[in-house]
Amino acid sequence: MSQLTEAPATTVATTVHRLHAAFATGRTKPVAWRRTQLRAMRSLLTDHADELQDALRADLGKSPVEAFTTEIGFTVNEIDHALAHLTSWLRPRRTRVPLALVPARARVVREPLGTVLIISPWNYPVMLALAPLVGALAAGNCALVKPSELAPATSAALARLLPLHLDQEAVAVVEGGVPETTALLEQRFDHIFYTGNGTVGRIVMTAAARHLTPLTLELGGKSPAVVEPGTDLATAARRIVWGKFMNAGQTCVAPDYVLAVGDTAGALEPHLAAAVREMYGEDPATSPDYGRIISTRHFDRLVGFLKDGRTVIGGGHDRDSRYIAPTVLAEVAPDAPVMDEEIFGPVLPVVRVPDLDAAISFITERDKPLALYAFTASADSKRRLTTETSSGALAFGVPNAHLTVPGLPFGGVGGSGFGRYHGEHSIDTFSHAKAVLDKSLFPDLLRLAYPPFTALKERLLRRML
Ligand code: NAD
Repeated sequence: MSQLTEAPATTVATTVHRLHAAFATGRTKPVAWRRTQLRAMRSLLTDHADELQDALRADLGKSPVEAFTTEIGFTVNEIDHALAHLTSWLRPRRTRVPLALVPARARVVREPLGTVLIISPWNYPVMLALAPLVGALAAGNCALVKPSELAPATSAALARLLPLHLDQEAVAVVEGGVPETTALLEQRFDHIFYTGNGTVGRIVMTAAARHLTPLTLELGGKSPAVVEPGTDLATAARRIVWGKFMNAGQTCVAPDYVLAVGDTAGALEPHLAAAVREMYGEDPATSPDYGRIISTRHFDRLVGFLKDGRTVIGGGHDRDSRYIAPTVLAEVAPDAPVMDEEIFGPVLPVVRVPDLDAAISFITERDKPLALYAFTASADSKRRLTTETSSGALAFGVPNAHLTVPGLPFGGVGGSGFGRYHGEHSIDTFSHAKAVLDKSLFPDLLRLAYPPFTALKERLLRRML
């Protein structure tokens, strides 16, 4: 494991070379090795939960409970799920062969890709570094993790703890920012798994193209929450507030804005304000459960949005502590700056649309979101939203929670990225599905297909194919 400050290119090249060499020995392929690594990662998370929670508090003001549920506990669940199902996930899948090939056996064998690069962001810096690592190791790969430099305490904790627990020959951490990541991207990997914004996603994809490296891009975007009349507005408001303001709004799948259908906005707004008070008190600055903005750059960007609508609740902010109160904005124009880019902070605009048709048009005219949420009592609205919109995920009645369903793939579509992971989907991402055909040499019925072709051969072949 290495921590780079100087000459990143040379140090990075040495580290990557070491990982490729380790993979070539075959040490990561046995299922026993994979299980050992997963169990070791589990111990890392449980034995050092306090240290990780402290780091998350230092980086993001994250409450220990939130740190546990959304990062540490979440990753432990991902590990437990992998440990429980690994054997069946790795079992070769038999598939039928066509009559013309009988007798023969065909199967799909999942083989590890080699050495994978995991580039993770700052907002869930434990979970977004380690959950992909679970998949990479479960699939039998070597891995290099590059945590975000914007969460320095967590990055340092991961760089210290991963070598203590995992196979140092097969897993490495490289800390650092743009120079280190640029140096890493010059190397050849067998897969790149990037989580972050789309601008850097393009840089990563361009670099991957040079080596024809397959990649996963887990990006963000504006995830809408549609609220229709006739739904339980108090509960919908509580759930939207919960999903939006966890981690101070710095969650890729958080509801970015509310699309209030018909006359719901007027009734919904007081419920949103009440829910904010219920969860964070009259002065959220004093709530131990409310986080802080990652950097002054993001703070300044977010404060710029506060004037884009009528303040229903919140609006307070303090640059020194990078605090922005949970803020709900009403009467936000669709072309306001806050509606232009992913907010990624604790500002919730409410945009009014006359009906579901307008809500669907609003969504489909923009980039495909990472998640679409809807609060509706209408089965027909659910059906229409399912068939007439496209998004990484679609959830009715609750935001953010689809991540916790182990069988569901997690990933974006269009502008929100491509590729997917979690559970068995991680095995798909970090493996090559190899086609294996085994045909015996006797009897050689294939002779039928060999030239010279006769009328009889042709008749038989046409029947078989
Ligand atoms: P970030 O700034 O931490 O960047 C992500 C990673 O890219 C870091 O490791 C960073 O070092 C690296 N990086 C930054 N600039 C680079 C450059 N010029 N060249 C190479 N590497 C570079 O995080 P961020 O991008 O601000 O993260 C927030 C974004 O990520 C949001 O858009 C959010 O929606 C998205 N996100 C998506 C998911 C998901 O699972 N789909 C999860 C979390 C965040």
